[in-house]
Amino acid sequence: MDVRPNPLPRAPTTLLDFQTMFPDEVACRRYLEQVRWPDGFVCPKCGIADEPYRNASRPLVFECRSCRHQARLTAGTMMHRTKIPLRYWFWAAYLFSAQTSGFSALELKKQLGINRYETAYMLLRKLRAGTTRPRAEKIGGEHSVEFDVAFVGGRTKGLGHGKTKKTMVLVAVEVREGKPPENINEKTKQSFYAGRIRLRKVPNRKAETIDQFVQDWIEPGTVILTDGDASFGNLSRLGYVHLPMVTKKDSAKIEGWVPLVHLVISNLKAWIHGTFHGAIRKKHLQTYLNEYIYRFNRRFSRMASFRTLLQIGTQVGPVTYEDHYRGRVRVRENVSALPADVAVPVLPTGAAE
Ligand SMILES: [Zn+2]
Repeated sequence: MDVRPNPLPRAPTTLLDFQTMFPDEVACRRYLEQVRWPDGFVCPKCGIADEPYRNASRPLVFECRSCRHQARLTAGTMMHRTKIPLRYWFWAAYLFSAQTSGFSALELKKQLGINRYETAYMLLRKLRAGTTRPRAEKIGGEHSVEFDVAFVGGRTKGLGHGKTKKTMVLVAVEVREGKPPENINEKTKQSFYAGRIRLRKVPNRKAETIDQFVQDWIEPGTVILTDGDASFGNLSRLGYVHLPMVTKKDSAKIEGWVPLVHLVISNLKAWIHGTFHGAIRKKHLQTYLNEYIYRFNRRFSRMASFRTLLQIGTQVGPVTYEDHYRGRVRVRENVSALPADVAVPVLPTGAAE
């Protein structure tokens, strides 16, 4: 196994750090170059390593001296073929990932001093799409998982008994032993804290719906803690170690049995309410759930996540905007005007990291 002499350049750790590292376009380009070709330019076509031709008027394009292939510095990243300066992307990604809550296009426009609302809107949409990873791994394994059903968004008031505008969301939370990492401000009296989470909007809580989610997102053999609801009845048969709390509506007892999943559910509700004032349309909910998963799972390493968000240095191929939105809504970067209310399309269910 060969040791890579030049590891990835470090990610910024503080705001000041970020500012110092990325003051201008040149610095951003150099960073991308370092990530992509840590040992110097290698032509992606002919494989020859040599200093490329550089053209001052097209600084993102490197031309191979041997085969004349033109390689773009931004290939494979979210900034591919962008007309927006790199530093806007870097800063937008930083702001997006550093905020604990969500972020509106108007706010981004103000913070970055972007003239056009449409540009800020497009940046934000792309970043949001970047929160979904095509191959997110399963959670659990050596860690146990708390699992429950939540009702999110909408109102119940005035709709009559048993009617609800709320949407059902399956919530799985990994239980980590010990104290949470220090840079995190979570009140915890216990000796465990929430690890990674998975969320999925579902139409019902039938056993087959539950089974599908669990098989998609939780490692076989994992210990799963739930309340005593019958819809969780198949988990043992599916190869999990299922520990249901058998209790008749004793909410305090259930709270003590699966405290983390309840913590996550109440934080999720507060986030949706606080950031979007609860005004999320049902069909767009999964997009926001994905953003929440992303924020939650990266709450220990916010600064580093700007890189993931922009798909810098990732082995996975580029996840394009179009991949995510599969032609439902096409927003070009130079689009002159967007309708005021472009629907946020639905992302593939639960495919987030
Ligand atoms: Zn070449």
